[in-house]
Amino acid sequence: MPKIIAISNQKGGVGKTTTAINLASSLAILNQRTLLIDADPQANATSGLGVDFNIITKSFYDALIGEATMAETLLQTSCPLLHISPSHIDLVGAELELIDIPNREKLLKIALQPIKDNYDFIIIDCSPSLGLITLNALTTADSVLVPVQCEYFALEGLGKLLKTIKLVQGRYNLNLSLEGILLTMYDSRLRLAQQVSVDLREHFGNTVFETIIRRNSKIAEAPSYGQSVILFSPQSSGAISYLDLASEVLNNNNIDITNINQREVQLRIKEIIKNNNNIEQ
Ligand code: ADP
Ligand code: MG
Repeated sequence: MPKIIAISNQKGGVGKTTTAINLASSLAILNQRTLLIDADPQANATSGLGVDFNIITKSFYDALIGEATMAETLLQTSCPLLHISPSHIDLVGAELELIDIPNREKLLKIALQPIKDNYDFIIIDCSPSLGLITLNALTTADSVLVPVQCEYFALEGLGKLLKTIKLVQGRYNLNLSLEGILLTMYDSRLRLAQQVSVDLREHFGNTVFETIIRRNSKIAEAPSYGQSVILFSPQSSGAISYLDLASEVLNNNNIDITNINQREVQLRIKEIIKNNNNIEQ
């Protein structure tokens, strides 16, 4: 049984897609068979992992509406244990088609059934809208990971999201839990960021991840090269933080990785980069 984690926050631009790509890649590098589902019609996770839209014949959405099996949508990424079920930019607005389908909030859960046991982790990148696609993600997931940008309205947005999670728990998914709140784009020079981080820890205690994702230019650059920051710039603070986050998630889920040390992780990353360069030439 895989652990299914939805990355969600109704606010846009808080680091959902960045976290989905880089957490999924880090988990794969730490030996976990991982599937990233791009459940956002904007398809940023798909393009951010270097998938060329021209090669997508079946998208995640086709599997949702039963026009493809989930297996038919899967693509290999440049990271060996990471697959993606892609989205497509043509899907903006597609959500409306779901309204008339019976069991419309359970479609993803049903579609995943035949393949989910091939994975240790399934990460779902959600869109900011709380439409039927996001509802499908939250109905399928075991937990929600909430990226929060350290700014003035952060707490307010978070309150809304926690209400939504409660609602989904009550009506569609009793087992849905909070994987954790992740501080993103943190700038320690800003007093406001420090204050928001203190407030969050005061309110939510240890549901806030110890790992903090700082603002880092390599994180922002990596998607335009179609790569996770881990393969784009393995020594950057962004890569190290997302690997730390993956270790924390594994730890919280009682998955033992004490047999993988830092040096081995760096060697594995080098090996993957070398192989990818060979393929390109
Ligand atoms: P969302 O999916 O919540 O809309 P994104 O992950 O797309 O948010 O992030 C919004 C923008 O911020 C993107 O341009 C992304 O590259 C950038 N970004 C995200 N996290 C960081 C970070 N830690 N440091 C610098 N830029 C970041
Ligand atoms: Mg996004």
